[in-house]
Amino acid sequence: MNCPDTTSPTPDPAALRALVGWFAANGRDLPWRASGTSAWGVLLSEVMSQQTPVARVAPIWREWMGRWPTPEDFADASRAEVLRAWGRLGYPRRALRLHECAAAIVERHGGEVPADVAELEDLPGIGTYTARAVACFHFGANVPVVDTNVRRVHRRLVEGAFLPGPARAADLRKVAALLPADGEDGEDGERELPAGPEISVALMELGALVCTASSPDCDICPVRPWCAWVAAGCPEPSAEELAGAKKRVQKFAGTDRQVRGKIMAVLRAAEHPVDKAEIDAVWPDAAQRSRCLFSLIEDGLAEQDASGRFHLPA
Ligand code: SF4
Repeated sequence: MNCPDTTSPTPDPAALRALVGWFAANGRDLPWRASGTSAWGVLLSEVMSQQTPVARVAPIWREWMGRWPTPEDFADASRAEVLRAWGRLGYPRRALRLHECAAAIVERHGGEVPADVAELEDLPGIGTYTARAVACFHFGANVPVVDTNVRRVHRRLVEGAFLPGPARAADLRKVAALLPADGEDGEDGERELPAGPEISVALMELGALVCTASSPDCDICPVRPWCAWVAAGCPEPSAEELAGAKKRVQKFAGTDRQVRGKIMAVLRAAEHPVDKAEIDAVWPDAAQRSRCLFSLIEDGLAEQDASGRFHLPA
């Protein structure tokens, strides 16, 4: 890592203006950022992008928006259709929760995604992050939107430490301190601040493209002159912090998640219920295979019929 040597205090209105200017020039042209994207489109993109790279999400998102452009269309689909369309995005319980979410939007809100953070958080599968992302990125609410990228950028830029550490309730308050107080944005003169949603999307993008987990590119970073981590001399994380971060990295090969994925692939590809022998062929460890199959049934992702065959839920 290259550690520059010039810094001044942060946060600073000039830093926020530099950040937002950088995003205007460098932000990715993601399909759900196009003007005219509905609140439902933004909600879908946020759920799909959790733990899945945007390059894999984009084609599925386009397909879904063509097929199910509204919550009502999606709520009318069968769970099997939804799971097949989810494909290999991973963590397929997200697809079922989205299905429940769409039904709740139809039932409670007449098919319109609500703008209010509390109403969004009340929907199935919509947590702290997604509720604020929809409220902010679609409805323009001045609320903190805190994902892993934002926590990491905040930690380095404001607190001067390299690793973000575990998520905490205080993260929302800390990131909110970077946003303008209501009515404070757009003032004339030196204090002129960008709007909250502009800052939020730029922070997230900076974490995705520049201030990345293992190798931040400080040389091209728009907020480098205000970065507390740079000001502190780019301290390396302690052995203890590194060990904690390693524990949080999820392995995939050989895990139940991998085996569940293989079983789901068989069920998605089959037009009819499949015999247990077809499932047995996907993984050699019988105990692990059996545990995974029954956990899929428990999660509502698979069902067994009266003849003992397995299929996606209807
Ligand atoms: Fe600071 Fe470097 Fe991250 Fe920019 S990329 S916020 S300069 S650590």
